[in-house]
Amino acid sequence: MNTPDKVVLVVEDNAISMRLYQALLEGHGYTMLQATNGMEGLRMAREHRPDLILMDMQLPKISGLEVTKQLKEDETLKSIPVIAVTAFAMVGDEKKYLENGCDGYISKPISITDLLQTVEHFLDQPLAQASAIR
Ligand code: MN
Repeated sequence: MNTPDKVVLVVEDNAISMRLYQALLEGHGYTMLQATNGMEGLRMAREHRPDLILMDMQLPKISGLEVTKQLKEDETLKSIPVIAVTAFAMVGDEKKYLENGCDGYISKPISITDLLQTVEHFLDQPLAQASAIR
């Protein structure tokens, strides 16, 4: 079920991927904030306190995993669910991301169904009740 007033921050350095997220998220009534690198993502998370963060793991300079660690070390931000997005889907990756603070995991190329189900899963339930999916 969609919750139209929810805000999703997407941290993604690839313009084509960003446009796909925008079409899907805004098309389903979410408000989307965009950051194209880790530092901008951190700044926007602190400034806007989004309901959910989609975090590309392969970012320039600071990796998505490092950004996630910093978010999860911040008492005011750690309750925001972070979904890791990665192009390098390999055995063991899911465990690595979940162990390092990510709350969920999706792989590129993005499956539209997968993305929307994951977003809805985390926005519809408090983090404490939401099990990490996949
Ligand atoms: Mn990237």
